[in-house]
Formats: sequence, structure tokens, C-alpha cells
Amino acid sequence: MAEKEIDKRFGKFGTVSFTGLTRVNDFIDHLQQGRVMGTRCRTCGIRYFPPRADCCKSLDSDMEWFDVAGTGTLLTYSTLSYAPTGFGQDLPYTIAVVDFGSVRVFGRLDRTLTAENISIGMRLKPEVLKLPDGNLAYEFRVVS
Ligand SMILES: [Zn+2]
Repeated sequence: MAEKEIDKRFGKFGTVSFTGLTRVNDFIDHLQQGRVMGTRCRTCGIRYFPPRADCCKSLDSDMEWFDVAGTGTLLTYSTLSYAPTGFGQDLPYTIAVVDFGSVRVFGRLDRTLTAENISIGMRLKPEVLKLPDGNLAYEFRVVS
């Protein structure tokens, strides 16, 4: 009897990947190509980030990928002094929501940014990172 092959690509995401099984593993392939991507429902047009395989409005799964590209603006952020298990060595770091117009994207800010140079409305763009262990992530960097 052949064992079912399990797609574990998402294990390559982030400092600690909490997602064992997902139907959006192509996200990792896009990161490897330097692209941060979300999904868009072909039926109703809603964009999702993090990417979803199913649309909760249309109740179907006719999705396509889109690039989180161009410049977004900082909507809100929080600098963490305490972190979940596995993230302690990254402290302090800042998590943020960045508005790209048709989609809002959650992620970390470039760690060189500090309270003195972070401001609501600042212009940011996503960048793919390769972590020391070979995993992939993304962060927002200031658009100069
Ligand atoms: Zn939809």
C-alpha cells in the first residue's frame, strides 16, 4: 500500500512554523522566488493575506495568487518585549499591519527600525528574508 504523500513545504516558513498542513504551500515557493503573495477569490474578488485556499464569502475555492507589491502604509504596530516560545532570541521585534489598498498585510518591521523612526502612515514595502537556518520569512522595509 502506497503512503499518501504529505506536502510539508510550509515547514520552511518563519522562525517557528506552526502550520503543519495547509493548502497554500505555494506561498513558500513564491517566497523562494522573492515574492510575497496572497490569494484572491476569482468569484467575488476578495483578497486574503495570509493566503487562504477557500473564500469565506463565496464559499468556494476558486482562488488565484497576487503579489503584495508596491508601497503600503503603516496602519498599526506593536513592539514586543516578550515573545512566544521559539521567538525569544528575536526580541525586541515589531509586528505591524500594512495597508496596500486592496489588502492589509500582517508582518514584522525591519528590525533596524526603532520607536524613534516608526510612525503611522510611513511607507513600507515587503521583502523576503532567508533566515540563518534556511527558512524563509518576509518583513517590511522603509521605502526611501
Ligand atoms: Zn469569494
